[in-house]
Amino acid sequence: MGKCELCGKDGSRIEADHKELGRVMVCQECWSKLYEENSMAADIGSSGSSCAVCK
Ligand SMILES: [Zn+2]
Repeated sequence: MGKCELCGKDGSRIEADHKELGRVMVCQECWSKLYEENSMAADIGSSGSSCAVCK
């Protein structure tokens, strides 16, 4: 738990690899935003989904 490093909102955070900011802890909303804007570094899937076929 803590504050989102982008919007400052309290709550659960997700680790994101931002292209410019590096590793940041952000809330679900900002994570989705980064994802949609393609602001994540390329290796997002490395710690999450293991399926290389269906993504
Ligand atoms: Zn946020």
